[in-house]
Amino acid sequence: KLSNRLTQVGAFVPQDAVLLDVGSDHAYLPIHLIKSGRISQAIAGEVVKGPYESAVANVQAAGLQNQITVRLANGLAAFDSAVDGVTTVTIAGMGGHLIAEILEDGRDKLDHVSTLILQPNNGERHLRQWLQAHDFMISDEKILAENDKIYEIIVARHGKQANLTEAELCFGPYLLQEKSAVFLDKWQAELAVNQAILANIPASAQQKQAEFSAKIAKIKEILNVSQ
Ligand code: SAM
Repeated sequence: KLSNRLTQVGAFVPQDAVLLDVGSDHAYLPIHLIKSGRISQAIAGEVVKGPYESAVANVQAAGLQNQITVRLANGLAAFDSAVDGVTTVTIAGMGGHLIAEILEDGRDKLDHVSTLILQPNNGERHLRQWLQAHDFMISDEKILAENDKIYEIIVARHGKQANLTEAELCFGPYLLQEKSAVFLDKWQAELAVNQAILANIPASAQQKQAEFSAKIAKIKEILNVSQ
C-alpha cells in the first residue's frame, strides 16, 4: 500500500496530467496514479542504477510498460520538453536544497510544465525562496504526519505573487494560515530542539546565541507563546 505521504503528493496531480516523477525510486507514485485512473502517461526518472532497476521491474510487474517510461537520468534530464509533453513534475522525498538544485539545473525545460508538486524532507524555506525568485507562485501546501515524521508538500505554478514575508517563507504561506495540529506539533518540536541547542551554546559565542535566539523568537511568535 502506498504511503500516506506519497498518496497526498499524488492527490495534487491534476487529472490526465503527463507526469515526470523525479527520483521515482520504486516508481510507486506513477504506478499508483495510473492504476487509480488519475493519469495515463508518466515518466519515472532515477539517477541511481539500483532504484532505476527496481522501477523497471515494478513497472513490468504491473504491466504498465506502455504507460510508464522509466529513464536513468539526472533530474529534469529525464524528459525532452519538445516531445514528451510533460505537464506536471513531482519531486518527493529529498532535501529542499537538492530539489531546488534539480529545478535550477533544468530551469529552461520548465516553461511548458504547469504544475510542480514538491515534497522536501527539509530545507523548505530555501525551496520556497527559490520558487519565488524564479517566478513560481505557491498555489497550495499540505503538512502531514506519518511514522513519527512530519512532511510538507508544496504545489507551485508559474506566476508572480506578492513577495512572501519571512514568516511565510519559513513556515509556508498556506500552512501558516491554516495552523493545523500537525503544523503546531512540528513547530513545538522545532522550538524545543532550538532551545536545547541554545542552552548549550557557550556565552562567548555571542553571534551563535543571537542567531538561535532569533530563530526561537520567530517560532514563538507564530505559536503565540509569550516570550
Ligand atoms: N520519490 C520517492 C519517494 O518520495 O518515496 C523516493 C524518494 S528516495 C528517498 C530519493 C530518490 O531520489 C532516490 O532513489 C535517489 O536515487 C533519487 N535521486 C536523488 N537525486 C536525484 C536526481 N538528481 N535525479 C534523479 N533522481 C535522484
